[in-house]
Amino acid sequence: MLVSAKEMLTKAKEGHYAVGQFNINNLEWTKAILQTAQEMNSPVILGVSEGAGKYMCGYKTIVGMVEGMIEGLGITVPVALHLDHGSYEGALKCIEAGFSSVMFDGSHYPIEENIEKTKELVRITGEKGISLEAEVGSIGGEEDGVIGAGECADPAECKMIADLGVTMLAAGIGNIHGKYPANWPGLSFETLDAIQQQTGAMPLVLHGGTGIPADMIKKAIDLGVSKINVNTECQLAFAAATREYVEAGKDLQGKGFDPRKLLAPGVEAIKTTVREKIELFGSANKA
Ligand SMILES: [Zn+2]
Repeated sequence: MLVSAKEMLTKAKEGHYAVGQFNINNLEWTKAILQTAQEMNSPVILGVSEGAGKYMCGYKTIVGMVEGMIEGLGITVPVALHLDHGSYEGALKCIEAGFSSVMFDGSHYPIEENIEKTKELVRITGEKGISLEAEVGSIGGEEDGVIGAGECADPAECKMIADLGVTMLAAGIGNIHGKYPANWPGLSFETLDAIQQQTGAMPLVLHGGTGIPADMIKKAIDLGVSKINVNTECQLAFAAATREYVEAGKDLQGKGFDPRKLLAPGVEAIKTTVREKIELFGSANKA
């Protein structure tokens, strides 16, 4: 059964660790993440962007796949199925389809409109026991085609959104999506600290977890980050392992063309990445 992310993140904030959100793209991705979370006895959040939702033939298909897999694989750790960077309409569609968590990314709206739409979603998700993530200050890099720089959110605006009753809050602290450029100045811990002081017990979310050095991740967790999103890193690992298989000519040997063989090294690479992240975030044995 899918669960809201509220309880796992409240525990994470109290216990000074973070739960990973790993974005999914297909069956192999989902299976690799669920199996690894189960092996490590860790709670897990499966992230789905609107683009990935379309790719996987709609939110209902995804809910069916994930629920079926939880049963078929005997997954007992808490699993939240979460819309990543949703629009207002996208969030409503996911709620209807059976997602247990949604993000409404109103960061590109003026703060008043972000508040208005977030309020409405707080009401709807509250009635259904679904967790809600809001965002203040755009997170740099590419989000489904939109490219931004690594901005820092205004702590006072963060408090305004947190006070609406959202479950968790994503705030820009210089983080960006995708690969970090060589001249990236790093996370702004000063901003993170100020946000945490304003928002208290609210679990904070760090987007763009790919390539942030381990010591910065640990410090961010110390300062109140309880959910960390990982997407690009699994994609890079999957692509590299698949490339290696094909370049070694293994698809041409015997039944090496069988998709179950062809995709296996990529799946193993995703598992390795997820395992490393769960260890770094400290959520192993916290299920
Ligand atoms: Zn993000």
